[in-house]
Amino acid sequence: MGRPRGRDRDRGERRILMVAGLSHRRAIIVGTGQAGLAVAAALSSEGLKPQHDFVVIDAAPKGARSWASRWPSMALLSDARHSALAVRRLPGDQRRHPRVDEMVDYFTFIEAALRVETVWGTRALGVEHRGNGSTLLLSTTAGEVQTRNVVCATGAAAHARIPDWASALTVPGVILHSSEFQHPQLVPTEDVLIVGGGNSGVQLARELAASHTVTLSTRTPRRQRPATRHTSGVEERTSWLSRKRRPEPVLGDSYHQLRRSGVRLKPAVGSVEGALINFVDGTHTQPGSVILATGYHPGDDWLPESARTDRSRRTMTGLPGLFVAGMPGYGGRGSDTIAGVWRDAAAIANHIINRP
Ligand SMILES: Cc1cc2nc3c(=O)[nH]c(=O)nc-3n(C[C@H](O)[C@H](O)[C@H](O)COP(=O)(O)OP(=O)(O)OC[C@H]3O[C@@H](n4cnc5c(N)ncnc54)[C@H](O)[C@@H]3O)c2cc1C
Repeated sequence: MGRPRGRDRDRGERRILMVAGLSHRRAIIVGTGQAGLAVAAALSSEGLKPQHDFVVIDAAPKGARSWASRWPSMALLSDARHSALAVRRLPGDQRRHPRVDEMVDYFTFIEAALRVETVWGTRALGVEHRGNGSTLLLSTTAGEVQTRNVVCATGAAAHARIPDWASALTVPGVILHSSEFQHPQLVPTEDVLIVGGGNSGVQLARELAASHTVTLSTRTPRRQRPATRHTSGVEERTSWLSRKRRPEPVLGDSYHQLRRSGVRLKPAVGSVEGALINFVDGTHTQPGSVILATGYHPGDDWLPESARTDRSRRTMTGLPGLFVAGMPGYGGRGSDTIAGVWRDAAAIANHIINRP
């Protein structure tokens, strides 16, 4: 067969080069968010060298960190002391609640300080066991690569969770998931229904109440705690996103405070008929726009079923050499918080160091 020509040849060569940059590494970390960087820091502290012993890949375009995609006015609910990895604190007052742009700068700084050169624009597609030994085959958009350890750090809040009824909904304005919200001006109608009474729904209701007529639909009444109490939540190892057991408390504004700001409270959405939304208490509304603050699915969808079902030990999966960081289902409560992910990272580094 002759050599490929033109663009095909360029693509083929790039594919081989990219994979060459990933091969013969002891570990490949998938995802360069806080979980991936925490694992990189933990491996470095065990003496492993970035690019030489391990590499970090990420599907996003260069520098497009998940914190950068969150709405710009959002302040974290965790204070600065609990919004940093164990390796370095955030500068400034430790009691303040950092903005998302500070988190982007912080993680960019951490990546550089660790000398990690993330291979951006490379998505992991699957991973499987190869042969009888301890080798894993990682499939990526840049090609396939063999390695001994793969760390899935692709986020507990990777995909928007959209309720089934949303496909039957028509409104004159916009229907957005909370992950798509950026500015109140992008909600073109005067009134907006926010579905979901968790922390995102409450924060968005507070923000939009200054410019819009807001209705907040909540399925489960939640406890409320002042935002300053988030710190103790981390220490109790509560989960940020977990829907298991009791729903997480809302931090900051209570439903009562929202009501005083003019937000109308409604129970869960029962059904939808075109533009009409029926609540489970028999009342209904016809909103101009709808924001679905209905949560997220984790980013473990590229792992094989066998790896996802066997979770016998913290961060370990049914596939030897495949570990998961930053997802409560694998690591435990608090794994999906900035302060809490360090426990996952330390456990994974320990497993990797001790694997043959
Ligand atoms: C609205 C919101 C507010 C939050 N506020 C706080 C807070 O105040 N305090 C707190 O402690 N926590 C908070 N969290 C929880 C948590 O800290 C964040 O979700 C955080 O971004 C999780 O970091 P991560 O590294 O696990 O995942 P992410 O930041 O999502 O990073 C995952 C990375 O993996 C990449 N990726 C995904 N799939 C693939 C693939 N197949 N192949 C290659 N790369 C892939 C993505 O591009 C991304 O860069 C909040 C979460 C949300 C959603």
